[in-house]
Amino acid sequence: MANVVKTISDLRARVQTWRQNGDQIALVPTMGALHDGHLSLIQLGKAKADKAIISIFVNPTQFNQAEDLQHYPRQELQDIEMASAAGADLIYMPDITTMYPTGHATKVMVEHISSALCGHARPGHFDGVATIVAKLLLQSLPDIAIFGEKDFQQLLIIKTMVRDLNIPVSIIGAPLIRDTDGLALSSRNTRLNANEREIAKRLPVIMQDCAAAINSGTSFSEALAAGRAALDDAGFDQVDYFEIRSSDTLEAMSSPGKTARLFAAAFIGDTRLIDNILLEETKP
Ligand code: AMP
Repeated sequence: MANVVKTISDLRARVQTWRQNGDQIALVPTMGALHDGHLSLIQLGKAKADKAIISIFVNPTQFNQAEDLQHYPRQELQDIEMASAAGADLIYMPDITTMYPTGHATKVMVEHISSALCGHARPGHFDGVATIVAKLLLQSLPDIAIFGEKDFQQLLIIKTMVRDLNIPVSIIGAPLIRDTDGLALSSRNTRLNANEREIAKRLPVIMQDCAAAINSGTSFSEALAAGRAALDDAGFDQVDYFEIRSSDTLEAMSSPGKTARLFAAAFIGDTRLIDNILLEETKP
């Protein structure tokens, strides 16, 4: 079983020992309730570095609703077992007072790229993400840090932050991992009941249909309108966005191009699902 550390000094002591041995170190930040998507990041970390640290911390500052935070799934012992089996060398599980001691007053905000999509739907969310990731990177000082393309906007924001703040780490994106029914793996999927799960698995199908329509010449606006209608018909309660934007800049696109990516966020009850696909990869 991998060692678990809870304090910054224990984390740094371990990292220092590895550094003295010349090891390269990967960090995988998570909020726990681990699934195969998270484990793929650990495996990528181990493929690219000698040691992999996984951090598990449910970060309150990135939640917009107290309810969502309160109901966020927590399964610490199972997470430790799963992370260890996937090859993690160290599990960093700080508590709230370690991450946000009394008097904590600093926030990291990455402008522009944070304002579209999830940033628009969840004000302040990405400030919370950028702040906690900056702290985790500075606490552990890894060589690389791995983030999933499932949260594509988050990955771009972290890359921008690291560049702008000159944090000496390489940010690496990892492919989105799906369940057997096509639904993007997410810790929040455990909150779906059987009926909601049936609705949820329509999301990637509707996205693929939209991509297929575009690949066969339908305009973006027509294909997106049909996709939104299909989400309503499938039983989604609220669609935050269903849009095509550039994978490089997140700027809106209205006609085909190599970077065009379809982004979606929709609620079933109070569970919010997100997904994205690169249109180029859906071409037959
Ligand atoms: P979370 O615990 O949801 O904050 O996610 C921690 C990391 O795992 C983030 O970099 C996510 O993008 C990544 N991740 C979550 N779900 C998936 C997935 N289905 N495939 C790939 N990476 C994922």
